[in-house]
Amino acid sequence: QYHVAERVRQLRPSPTLAVSDRARALRQQGIDVIDLGGGDPDFPTPTHICQAAADAMFRGETHYVASAGIPELRRAIARKLQAENRIPVTPDEIIVTPGGKAALFVSILALVGPGDDVLMFDPGWVSYEPMVIMAGARCLHVPLLPEENYRITREAIEAVLTPQTRLMIVNSPNNPTGRVLTREEADAIVTVAQEHDIVVISDEIYEKIIYDGREHLSLAAFPGMAERTLTVNGFSKAYAMTGWRLGYVAGPAPLIRQIMKVHSHSATCATSFAQWGGVAALEGPQDVIDAMVAAWDRRRRFVTERLNAIPGFRCPLPEGAFYAFPDVSGTGLSGQEVAQKLIEEAYVGVTPGDAFGASGSGCIRLSFATADELLERALDRIANVFGR
Ligand code: PLP
Repeated sequence: QYHVAERVRQLRPSPTLAVSDRARALRQQGIDVIDLGGGDPDFPTPTHICQAAADAMFRGETHYVASAGIPELRRAIARKLQAENRIPVTPDEIIVTPGGKAALFVSILALVGPGDDVLMFDPGWVSYEPMVIMAGARCLHVPLLPEENYRITREAIEAVLTPQTRLMIVNSPNNPTGRVLTREEADAIVTVAQEHDIVVISDEIYEKIIYDGREHLSLAAFPGMAERTLTVNGFSKAYAMTGWRLGYVAGPAPLIRQIMKVHSHSATCATSFAQWGGVAALEGPQDVIDAMVAAWDRRRRFVTERLNAIPGFRCPLPEGAFYAFPDVSGTGLSGQEVAQKLIEEAYVGVTPGDAFGASGSGCIRLSFATADELLERALDRIANVFGR
């Protein structure tokens, strides 16, 4: 029996990775498994981005760089945030990190500790809670309901708020629900944050993956919010660069200075030549994103239609990101049980909704960042197992 830190012993391993593990194990037995569990764009990284990184590597950009990131990338990010998101931020107020995930982790670790509460929405992304626990702080969950289309209200937030609440984590477009924050919901968040002096982490990693002409709202652009908002974003989803591990956090200088200590003593810096790929991504043609989003838009309609035809499944049309999050409680089974049945009987890997919190326990999450032909076969198999 080894000694392990208590804050780590209480963590569950990532439930989204557990699905991929089971899918891999079945595949090794020669079974043709279709994995809809992951969150990885099914497109290659655009060539001009790869070329820029390769050029940088052959130029000798293979050493440590400034811990906060190369100036060229921080300038490009600042320009993007100012022009597209209306966030008044300078290159000095940005840290480039190995992925959006690392940006979230160093920010949470820097901002909260024992005695502090962190408010988040349920269902929500799987890694927020473990990060808060690793920081030694406590999670407060605001339950959002499928029958209310996961609507965020001021009342719901205030019902769980404590005087120790220091941080609120918001994610739009949302993983897993596909919801995009409305102006009313954003106003509710902004009001509570300002009245109770709370810092907001706005995870905008799916910003570019948004449908039906909806508008992406950056919380830091609201009046009085730039000084209390950390905007987290990255290159994984918009530019199909998940393996590059490249993301960033932007926010007020006094907070960024504190976060820098954690980042510089842990990651040192994000990979040097990958950062040059990031510059090419931001400064190069943006129509590479449109092509992917057009494919996901088509698949989103297809998947939703097929799921709604299955007895006991009810699937709202995702407003953003690339996940369908049907409520399957009408089958009489929990999300866990449906996911179990699907991997064992249909050989389709999906993520049980309770991985994202108690409010998701009647749901499953399917990623449609998957080739059309595979999606069609997966939906046929799901419909077969559930008797249609
Ligand atoms: N935030 C959300 C909501 C995500 O779904 C993900 C990835 O799945 C991330 C952040 C982190 O992405 P990355 O670390 O690849 O930038």
